[in-house]
Amino acid sequence: MANETNNFSEIIAHCKEYGYIFPSSEIYDGLSAVYDYGQNGVQLKKNIRDYWWKSMTQLHENIVGIDAAIFMHPLTWKASGHIDNFSDPMIDNKDSNKRYRVDHLIESYADKLAHEGRKEEEYALLKRMDELLSKDDFTGLRNLIEDNNITCAVSETCNWTDIRQFNLMFDTQLGTISGEADKIYLRPETAQGIFVNFLNVQKTGRMRIPFGIAQTGKAFRNEIVARQFIFRMREFEQMEMQFFVRPGTELQWYEYWKEARLKWHESLGIPVEKLRYHNHVKLAHYANAAVDIEYEFPFGFKELEGIHSRTDFDLKQHGELSKKKLQYFDNDLKEDGEPYGNYIPYVVETSVGLDRLFLTVISMSYAEEKWTKEDGSEDSRVVLRIPAKIAPYKLAILPLVKKDGLPEIAKQLMNECKESFYTFYEEKDSIGKRYRRMDAIGTPFCVTIDHRTKDDNTVTIRYRDTMLQERIPLSDVRKVVMEKIS
Ligand code: ATP
Repeated sequence: MANETNNFSEIIAHCKEYGYIFPSSEIYDGLSAVYDYGQNGVQLKKNIRDYWWKSMTQLHENIVGIDAAIFMHPLTWKASGHIDNFSDPMIDNKDSNKRYRVDHLIESYADKLAHEGRKEEEYALLKRMDELLSKDDFTGLRNLIEDNNITCAVSETCNWTDIRQFNLMFDTQLGTISGEADKIYLRPETAQGIFVNFLNVQKTGRMRIPFGIAQTGKAFRNEIVARQFIFRMREFEQMEMQFFVRPGTELQWYEYWKEARLKWHESLGIPVEKLRYHNHVKLAHYANAAVDIEYEFPFGFKELEGIHSRTDFDLKQHGELSKKKLQYFDNDLKEDGEPYGNYIPYVVETSVGLDRLFLTVISMSYAEEKWTKEDGSEDSRVVLRIPAKIAPYKLAILPLVKKDGLPEIAKQLMNECKESFYTFYEEKDSIGKRYRRMDAIGTPFCVTIDHRTKDDNTVTIRYRDTMLQERIPLSDVRKVVMEKIS
C-alpha cells in the first residue's frame, strides 16, 4: 500500500476515538500518567494477557499460576530490597523546578544527537552514562550533563541541583491509625507475591524443580517522569513468571528463556526487525545476568520485557526475615549422582509489561494508507492490522439494508458465531463507511448479507488487510473465521 505513516500522536488520538484508551477521570481533566482502557482496549488487553497466560501455563506442564494480593506484609519489601534500593537517581532544574530521572534526561539528549545524524557522539554519551551509572558516580553524571550542556525542556537552562536518589514505592496505611508501624506499600512488582508463595505452591502442587510460577496483575510505581502515553504509567500491569532451578543451572535457563521469550513476541506477530536484545551493563542488586527485549516504538527502541537471572537472592532474603526455611528437597539429585539434599533454588525471571505490549501491538498495527483506484481517484483509510487471534472483534456482521429480512439473517448468523468468538453487528451507514469503521477498530473480517443471500445462501466476506472480497456460503462463515483466528 502506498504512503504508509506511523505517527505517535495520531496513534494516541486514534486510541481515544475508537474506544481503546481514555485518560483517567477525564471529566476532571485527567490524572497524570494514569489511563483507562475502553470497550475495545479492555478486550485487546485481555486477549494479549490470555495469550501470555496460555503460553506460560497451559503449554508448560511445569508452570502454574497464582493471583497474590496487591497488599503484602511490609517486611516483604525490606527483604526484596525495595525499601533500601528501589530508587532512581534524580536531578532537578533550579529554574523550572522540574525533576528528571538522570538516565532519561541524558537518553533524550542522545536521541536528539541521533536525529541530527551525530551517531558517534550519541554512542559515546550513552557509553559514558552506562559507565557512570554502574559506579553510582553522581558527580560524574552531573558533570556529564553540564559538559554536554543538557538543558531542561521547560526552562531551557542548564541550572541543575545535585543528583539524589528517590524511592518509587507508593505507601498507604493499614487500618485507621496512622503511623510508621502501619505503613504498607502498593506492590511495585508482582514478583514478590510469587516468592512468598514459593513453598505453598511447591508443596500443594507437588512441583519438582525446574518449575515456574506465573502471575499477572497490577503494579504501582511513583514514576517521576511518566510520559509517552501508556509506556510509563504510575499504575500498570505486569505479566511475570519466576522459574525455579537448581543452583548452577541458572545461566543455561536464562539463555533458554531469553530465546523463548523473543520467539514468543514473534509468535504474537511482532516483526522480528523491530525487536532486539539489550544486555544490562549495571546489574540490579539481585541479578547475575539480565537482558531487556526492546521494541522499536514510534519514539525509538525501548524496553518491553526484562529477563533476569535473580540467583537465590529473593528466597534467601525472605527466608532470613521470615525465619522460615524456603528450601527445596531435591530427590532427583540422587539419581543424577549429585550430592543429595536441600537447597535454596535459583530463579530466572521473565517480566513483561502488559500495557507496553499493548502499545507495541497498537504501534505495529496502526497504518494510514492512501492509494489510487482504478478510475484514477484517490482513496485512503486508517487501519489497525491487529493480528486476528488477538483482535477485540473477530467478525463484523453487516446487513446491506435494514429491511427485506436481511437483519434477521444477520442476527441468526451472529447467534451462531457468538459462542465461538466476538462479533460486531452494525446496520447503520453505507457499507463502505462501515468497512472503514471496522478497519479503524481492527476487525479482521466483515461479512455482508445482501439480497443475493436470500436466493443462494452466500455472503460477501471482506478481509481487512487486503480489502479483498469473496463470496462464500453463509453456512461456512463460522468455520472460515475459526480457521483464521486459531
Ligand atoms: P524501565 O527501565 O523502563 O523503568 P524497569 O527495568 O524498571 O523499566 P522492570 O522492573 O524490569 O522494569 O519491570 C518489568 C516490565 O514492567 C518492564 O519491562 C515494563 O514492560 C513494565 N514496566 C515497568 N515500569 C512500567 C511503567 N511505569 N509503566 C508501564 N510498564 C512498566
